[in-house]
Amino acid sequence: MALLLVAAPAQAYLTTSRVPLPKPRPAEAPAIEAPAIEPAQKPGEEPAKSEQPAEPEKPAAEARPPEPPPPSACRLALTDAIAVAPSIPDIKGPGACGGPDMVRLEAVVLPDKTRVPLKPAGTMRCAMATAVAEWIRADMAPLATNLGTKLLELDNFDSFDCRGRNRVVGAKLSEHGRANALDVRGLKLANGRSIALTERNTPREQREAVLHSVCTRFTTVLGPGSDGYHEDHIHLDIAERRGNYRICQWDVWDEWPRIAPLMPAVRPDEAPPREVAEGKPGEKKTEEAKPAEPAAAQPAATEPELEAAEAEPAPEQPKPKPKPKPKKRRTQPTSPFSFLR
Ligand SMILES: [Zn+2]
Repeated sequence: MALLLVAAPAQAYLTTSRVPLPKPRPAEAPAIEAPAIEPAQKPGEEPAKSEQPAEPEKPAAEARPPEPPPPSACRLALTDAIAVAPSIPDIKGPGACGGPDMVRLEAVVLPDKTRVPLKPAGTMRCAMATAVAEWIRADMAPLATNLGTKLLELDNFDSFDCRGRNRVVGAKLSEHGRANALDVRGLKLANGRSIALTERNTPREQREAVLHSVCTRFTTVLGPGSDGYHEDHIHLDIAERRGNYRICQWDVWDEWPRIAPLMPAVRPDEAPPREVAEGKPGEKKTEEAKPAEPAAAQPAATEPELEAAEAEPAPEQPKPKPKPKPKKRRTQPTSPFSFLR
């Protein structure tokens, strides 16, 4: 009250005597720092303090470093009973890489409390780690049980990785860059075997069981036959697309035969008519052979696997032709006898 009484006459005096007053401080002017409070900035120190005046009205009590954000719903749900997945700091860049709510997925904990480690541990967002944990717990552990064994570990081929799709520089950012993806080659079992997902000597029904599981649980599944970049591993991610569009591209190739093939493969129905080796159509007529068409496009070309010497010991071989390139389904690097290793 007293202050007001004193101030009013002073103001009146100043106004009436027309003493020039300083202009009002423009709103956009930087706030005045109190130099006495701020410690002198050392040379070379990060100029982070220059951002401080942006909040000049903040009371000194709140100037402490910001509290970490509260744990996300995902983080709260991904308990020790489900996974060993400690939180790690957010990854920011470079570029659009990284993300919030990151964890290091070290192991999935099965309902019976067994730990199935990821080798090596994977860096990913909490949501992806949850998807992986649920997949292992609900589908892969029972699959191992059905095989009379248990899961030993999950083979992590790649998780967070700041790169373009398929490691192509300049390509659209991979989900690996967003820490929402995991590449898997296989699952090791306690009986010493593994479910190698892209190997043809893994029983087909096991690979198909994994295919159905991952294509239900992940929005992107890329494997052999998808784009040429996934012949030796399966890519899993949880990218969200318009209309909940999902990608499930994994051709489960035929299993290699369990015994060495002694007989030639069954001739497919759609194969062109067979020509006899001697080129004398009249002699060795079969139901399929069409002697009236000696100029059929590629004699014997459709049967690359036919071992003529064994099957029908013809005295004369057809004139040597360059072996046709077999279909893709037949060109796996693994030998048909690799199961003998
Ligand atoms: Zn991948």
